[in-house]
Amino acid sequence: MSTVFSKIIAREIPADIVYEDELVLAFRDIAPSAPTHILIIPKHEIATANDVTIEDEAALGRLFTAAAKIAAEEGIAADGYRLIVNCNAHGGQEVFHLHMHLVGGRPLGPMLARK
Ligand code: AMP
Repeated sequence: MSTVFSKIIAREIPADIVYEDELVLAFRDIAPSAPTHILIIPKHEIATANDVTIEDEAALGRLFTAAAKIAAEEGIAADGYRLIVNCNAHGGQEVFHLHMHLVGGRPLGPMLARK
């Protein structure tokens, strides 16, 4: 089942795209949690982190190299940032096309609320 991210890849709906190559696409989150909040996605649909296979390793590795490049371009590399991949209900995943959140531009606080 295709998600809104497939429509962004196909340019069927608009997005503020900041990076693209043959394996991944990156665009600004529509509801940013920090001054920089960018989503980096593989161009082929992988529903969740549970669904990754060995064939996905090149694209999944590229998420990290793209993140490092984008963080440098955004001017947040030295201060630091957070990379997040949510999975399924307990992870709070809303869009079932695996994506890496690149979040930064301010101190982000503890990684998880302690409940
Ligand atoms: P997650 O909870 O990890 O599945 O995150 C999904 C993210 O996608 C959320 O941060 C949303 O704000 C973001 N999002 C949903 N639709 C769009 C869209 N059309 N363009 C950009 N970001 C979106």
